Amino acid sequence: AARRGPDYLAGLNPEQRQAVETIDGPVLVLAGAGTGKTRVLTTRIAHILSSGRAWPSQILAVTFTNKAAREMRERIGHLIGGNVDGMAWLGTFHSICVKILRRHAELVGLSSGFSILDTDDQLRLMKQVIQAEGLDDKRWTARAFASLVDGWKNRALTPKDVPEGEARAFGNGKGRKLYAEYQDRLSVLNAADFGDLLLHVITLFKTHPDVLADYQRRFRFMLVDEYQDTNIAQYLWLRLLAQGNPNICCVGDDDQSIYGWRGAEVDNILRFEHDFAGATVIRLERNYRSTSHILAAASHLIAHNEGRLGKTLFTDDADPEAEPVCVASAWDSEEEARSIGDEIEALQARGHSLDQIAILVRASFQMREFEDRFVTLGLNYRVIGGPRFYERMEIRDAMAYFRCIAQPADDLAFERIVNTPKRGLGEATLKIVHELARAERIPLMQAAAQLCLTEEIKPKARKALADLLAAFERWRAQLGAMKHTELAEIVLDESGYTEMWRADRSAEAPGRLDNLKELVRSMEEFESLAGFLEHIALVMDRDNAEAGEAVSIMTLHSAKGLEFDTVFLPGWEEGLFPHQRALDESGRAGLEEERRLAYVGITRARKRAKIWFASNRRIHGLWQSSIPSRFLDELPEAHVEVVEPSTRYGGYGGGGYGASRFDARDPFQSGSYSTPGWQRAQRARAAQGGFAEAGGFARADMRSARARQQGPLTIEGE
Ligand code: ATP
Ligand code: MG
Repeated sequence: AARRGPDYLAGLNPEQRQAVETIDGPVLVLAGAGTGKTRVLTTRIAHILSSGRAWPSQILAVTFTNKAAREMRERIGHLIGGNVDGMAWLGTFHSICVKILRRHAELVGLSSGFSILDTDDQLRLMKQVIQAEGLDDKRWTARAFASLVDGWKNRALTPKDVPEGEARAFGNGKGRKLYAEYQDRLSVLNAADFGDLLLHVITLFKTHPDVLADYQRRFRFMLVDEYQDTNIAQYLWLRLLAQGNPNICCVGDDDQSIYGWRGAEVDNILRFEHDFAGATVIRLERNYRSTSHILAAASHLIAHNEGRLGKTLFTDDADPEAEPVCVASAWDSEEEARSIGDEIEALQARGHSLDQIAILVRASFQMREFEDRFVTLGLNYRVIGGPRFYERMEIRDAMAYFRCIAQPADDLAFERIVNTPKRGLGEATLKIVHELARAERIPLMQAAAQLCLTEEIKPKARKALADLLAAFERWRAQLGAMKHTELAEIVLDESGYTEMWRADRSAEAPGRLDNLKELVRSMEEFESLAGFLEHIALVMDRDNAEAGEAVSIMTLHSAKGLEFDTVFLPGWEEGLFPHQRALDESGRAGLEEERRLAYVGITRARKRAKIWFASNRRIHGLWQSSIPSRFLDELPEAHVEVVEPSTRYGGYGGGGYGASRFDARDPFQSGSYSTPGWQRAQRARAAQGGFAEAGGFARADMRSARARQQGPLTIEGE
């Protein structure tokens, strides 16, 4: 029989209750999705506070995002029926470290007003350092150096700690020197980059035992959510603090470790038991979030991973009406977006709140199709964890080029790209152009053209400007002569813009290239460049759209920890999900991380999980048939319903794939959907639809077909 206790304990199951009440000594809660890990942490804090074991300011609680921290603060307040403003140390690793560092900045060579560099500043500084060493910054790019340094900082390596081999591999053997120089410059500028925040605090703790002891005394209780995604530096930081006081509780799920590419170490889970002597390990097995179908689908899928600690999960949810996980196919991504839009409208009509509906994509370029569709439908949406598609930097840049072609008087557009990529058109030149434009009341481009005929601008810059203007003339002339999508590609190529991102070795660059391709693809839906630009103007004009209920669109990475009644999971195709780059770069480990991402995706759903794949994606105007994701084969038949496309869209005409879309062995009708089954369907469809690439997808062809899908990986953080 359950013991009675304070209200906040009511309703917890015995294991959860143990995790809440075992507040002395190290505790590791290792449990699957939706088992109440976050709830346990929140309740545990409420318990510590209301049992008077600590003041709010004596609790250190780490969440993965700032949003999660805000929510946790609110819930704790709710549980104890009071205000928790005093919880000064509830936040992300970074926000907590900034706070510590501001207090002791002098001890690590900064002063308390130090600034935190954004990525741009960081790159500019690195470039200076690289050039100052006499290295070619095209060969040794700032981006590449930045990702190297970030990696070292994730592992808490200061310049002298970097292993010789790694240090030598960059900058003609000068990696270590460059890193040290960079750190020196930061210090002179009284600045820290993101990775420094943690690194400096670790250095501080190591070099000033008195300061460390102070924090060890202060933090009576430490709690960490999403522990599986901590990196080495974060782990060391926690361990230093816990040396004085082992009341540390970490909760996590090895199956949800999805930030390996950013330095997260799932092994931190194993280290915990080893490093924190006498740790209590608690496993939660009951899932409170999802229906049995959803849970079974997710569990079955993740069981295909080898590197697992292993867990059981069950649910008491026995709703006979519960919907199986739905797998549906669309002809292409446009139909996918259209169908999902229709389904959402139907749900809304039945009284479902848009707030309870999410679309989780693997790569951010996938959002474009949904955003366009939802704007057309007037369906409110918000993009979580990043900008909306048309607001992304690379999309705005590309659009600025297109605007300059179609609207020569568009000064804002011209300003945006006149020196992007870099052409040596600096402030001084632009100032001259501006002055003339203002004096004569003419557009910038016209002023620039006039100036090119004079000696006012230095010869080198003048040549660069004249070349750019000539290019715009040429593109404008081509506008009437070729398809606008073709021209768009030519513009992005000839301007050097695509090349700029190709040369960029940062983690975001491949995603930006994907987005550019998607932009060009999206133009195909319009007759002309002008029509397209008009559409964009409409899409961008959504002043109050974010108010009120809205469908959430986000990447799978950003969805961690969240839950929704209905979750749509589009784009389950080989090469996209699992993503080709994850497979290429890290092989089996990459595949397993992709599978964990699929597990995270499915387990976000409370009541409805709807997986989609498009049979075709149009890439650079060419149809490419896609292969259904291998993850589809890994779902348990008994919990999955494969939706027959022709019954959903019997009516619409397009390419002749109505009711007779599949042959008699159609897996959609037989209810089985092994990979060969999906492929049969593809073949049948190909025979009817008649697109070039589709012939004969036998299993043996799969590998080469996969290899053909060269969309580089967009790994999306939050
Ligand atoms: P994830 O791994 O996805 O982060 P989690 O383990 O942190 O999941 P929570 O988000 O804490 O799980 O809980 C999942 C859902 O189950 C929440 O809606 C939570 O309120 C609910 N829940 C957790 N424990 C209980 C319980 N004992 N009784 C009723 N509902 C519960
Ligand atoms: Mg959680």
